[in-house]
Amino acid sequence: MELYNLSKKVVVERNIFSFKEIEKSISKIFDLFPLPENKNIRILLKPNCNNDLNALTGNSTDLRVIVCVINELKKRGYKEIILAEGCNCGINHIGIDVLERLRIKSLGEILNVKIIDLNKTTYRKITLADDKFVKISEEIFKADFVINLPKLKTHVEAGISIATKNLMGCLQGLEKRRIHDNFFPNIVSLGNQIRINLNIVDGIIAMEGNGPGDGIAKKVGCLVAGNDCFLVDAVCAKLMGYEINEIKYLKIKGFSREDLDVLDKIQNTYNFIKAKKNLMSSVLLKNIFVRPRYWRAFDPIFSSGFIPDFLYKIKVRQDVYIKDEVNLDAFEILDVNECNRLLDIICPMELKVENGNIPIDKCLKCMYCYFLDNKKSIKIKGEFGYLQQHIDRFGKFIHKLKL
Ligand code: SF4
Repeated sequence: MELYNLSKKVVVERNIFSFKEIEKSISKIFDLFPLPENKNIRILLKPNCNNDLNALTGNSTDLRVIVCVINELKKRGYKEIILAEGCNCGINHIGIDVLERLRIKSLGEILNVKIIDLNKTTYRKITLADDKFVKISEEIFKADFVINLPKLKTHVEAGISIATKNLMGCLQGLEKRRIHDNFFPNIVSLGNQIRINLNIVDGIIAMEGNGPGDGIAKKVGCLVAGNDCFLVDAVCAKLMGYEINEIKYLKIKGFSREDLDVLDKIQNTYNFIKAKKNLMSSVLLKNIFVRPRYWRAFDPIFSSGFIPDFLYKIKVRQDVYIKDEVNLDAFEILDVNECNRLLDIICPMELKVENGNIPIDKCLKCMYCYFLDNKKSIKIKGEFGYLQQHIDRFGKFIHKLKL
């Protein structure tokens, strides 16, 4: 474990790829960042589930990280654990249930953890840097201890999207768009006002290039932890190959001379392909153009068909959402050894092949094993719905990960 002695320490765990490695590493992180003594507190976990793209695409928080954090908290005696997230306004607007698609709801049922959609709770107003106010889910303020579980990824507008940017999920619905009116100072304002007690960044399979939704999955294998979201982002940015001044919100936040001296020495070890700004999207994504998209009368032309496809092709949009749900009925295991090897690494439920098959009653249907299976050891029967588009878009990158 590498320790960076900043004004609030940040640690980096490397070469973490399998469930067992994640489990061990999470336990070490909780030893280093002590939790409150009172075991009856309400702990809120805030993963990144802004979109319906699973963790292997590099977009959302890995279910294995979430499971290991919950298990470790329970092992240490904490009883009230909540998993809470509010997906992005585009996918929320068209009514796709991201927490269901990413299997967060099923996970909550199995682990007996309450799931909260932050887009649908009571709210509190906070004032941003530009004096506008936004609605933040009250749940964040009601929790005694908040653990932020962001993903390590690039972002066309912000450069990176890690701990601070993950707080956008606490804003409700279209309030997320308000941040964009004065983007960088507003991100700083959000990070200053939302109290996060601990950040654990999932950098196991990250996203590089045209992130946060249309980039390339990258095998990185790190977990980064710290109490301060700006310092955690700063360490991640350096490891990814950015200078602090390149990330505008970090530059605006500013760090002490002592912290900058430590940050200066951090080497670019992961060499991310940086997100390129698209001039067309910089203009068309201004709120003046985006807001009408959310008028119900325009739903038919923006939700599917030629216009969203065209906007995706010219890179103004990063996502085209498919409404068809998945209905998978059965696994067929063609190579038990290879399938068990994959499950050992990737299965959040730690399943194994039993009597020639995966025990479907305990399976989350997260499809991590299927996405990663480049040796075709698993066959799945049923309707793939929106998943087929994800396989077509990201499958080739995921197969190259070779876990
Ligand atoms: S068996 Fe596959 S689909 Fe089921 S929980 Fe494990 S990784 Fe996910």
